Amino acid sequence: MSKRTYRNYIAGRWIDAADGRRLEILDPSDGSHLADIARSGSEDVDRAVQAARTSLAGDWGRMSATDRGRILHRIGEGVLKNINLLAELEARDVGKPLKQARADVEALARYFEFYGAAADKVHGDTIPYRTGFTAITLYEPHGVTAHIIPWNYPMQIIGRSLGAALAMGNAAVVKPAEEACLTVIEFTRIAEEAGLPHGALNLVTGTGEEAGAALSGHPGINHISFTGSVATGALVQAAAARNAVPVTLELGGKSPQLVFADADLDRALPFLVMAGIQNAGQTCSASSRILVERSIYEEVAARMADAYRKLKVGPALSDLDVGPMVSRRQKDIVEGYIGLAERDGARLAAQGTIVPEAPAGGAYVTPTLIRDVTPSHRLVQEEIFGPVQVIMPFDGEQQAIDLANGTPYGLVCGIWTNDGGRQFRLARAIHSGQVFINNYGAGGGIELPFGGVKRSGHGREKGFEALYGFATTKTISIYHG
Ligand code: NAD
Repeated sequence: MSKRTYRNYIAGRWIDAADGRRLEILDPSDGSHLADIARSGSEDVDRAVQAARTSLAGDWGRMSATDRGRILHRIGEGVLKNINLLAELEARDVGKPLKQARADVEALARYFEFYGAAADKVHGDTIPYRTGFTAITLYEPHGVTAHIIPWNYPMQIIGRSLGAALAMGNAAVVKPAEEACLTVIEFTRIAEEAGLPHGALNLVTGTGEEAGAALSGHPGINHISFTGSVATGALVQAAAARNAVPVTLELGGKSPQLVFADADLDRALPFLVMAGIQNAGQTCSASSRILVERSIYEEVAARMADAYRKLKVGPALSDLDVGPMVSRRQKDIVEGYIGLAERDGARLAAQGTIVPEAPAGGAYVTPTLIRDVTPSHRLVQEEIFGPVQVIMPFDGEQQAIDLANGTPYGLVCGIWTNDGGRQFRLARAIHSGQVFINNYGAGGGIELPFGGVKRSGHGREKGFEALYGFATTKTISIYHG
């Protein structure tokens, strides 16, 4: 694949940043120069917001919900037609093994199918009110929505956030992450080819400090959907507060899976490991804590250790179990955490293998399972965002609940037990946006509302519920005597 220069997309035109600056994008599998993107600043963001505003007053704003839905459907079809191109580009850009990248393309298409079908099914109420009055509610778009996207699942996250926003009739400005954004740019081309009116979707690439900050603080924005770290989420929320703008924050997690002695271990084992190492652990809903009832703790630890020893790490296009981290910076962060385990007396129960063919310039990290660590340790409390899991024992339901709830996060929880009463007791007691019983995996569930409690964020994306997040309720009261 030859090195390319990608531009911004504003008001239906592909253009360079106003001051002509660019950023280099690197391939994390070997450190080579993959592409250049526009390095946008406040002038580019301003143009994009104006273009979105103009589209709301034009074809896009006047379009019926049914016609919007048809366009979203066509976008989904276009995504599937480009599955090979998008999967390879995502593999190179993020470092994701090809089969995981293909699954992300399918999810992106599915979001547009789902929200395309939903576009004309959101309707308000009639409300019993005073005699002589009729009162109704309408769901209307916020107006211009900002979408700030992280690097770990560019396609899935643009799908869930943009799909719902466009279905509701908003006009969008998208700012993908500087580390990995090439599939978001290709996606924008696909949306254009599907007939999305000019200005309904605008794309500005660049750094978070420049383009991201300019977008989140722009007075012409009416809603912000942010996915990323807690620290940046707080900055975005503060910027939004200055303009009194609503925000959806999808932040990190430290999601546990609880394994009880009566669980079907053969079924659970692949989920326990996969949920930790998929996308090299760079998944907000990664299950980084495995909590096991003490009577089966040694057995589960041994079986997980076996699975870890078989894990192979290598270039994304080799399509092994685990690819590189997105960047050398992320590799250094994760290796710092593994170093903490060794320093503080925790045990490395098992590690995977980086294949010898992996280029020296790649950002590879050895998947690591850690045991004998205390609940207050940083390895248990902090999001590592790498292929690292801790495994800890518990005694009884109450301790399982206390450990599960004992971090600042609350995104996803898995519960493995065949005791029906316990399934519901725990599901109710866990502080978390999603609970999976005898399964685990937020990624696939386009239909399932998703989001966090506590530091994992607020607001919900995915499913039908997300549509209401991208809408505002207007109440109309009519006096007719
Ligand atoms: P990040 O917060 O550094 O960046 C996310 C996005 O915000 C990027 O587009 C970045 O350019 C932009 N940004 C950075 N600084 C900004 C600023 N000052 N103002 C506005 N925008 C700014 O996060 P990341 O490193 O890209 O992603 C990793 C983190 O994201 C992890 O903590 C992970 O848990 C979280 N995450 C959460 C979810 C979820 O759905 N809950 C999904 C993916 C990632």
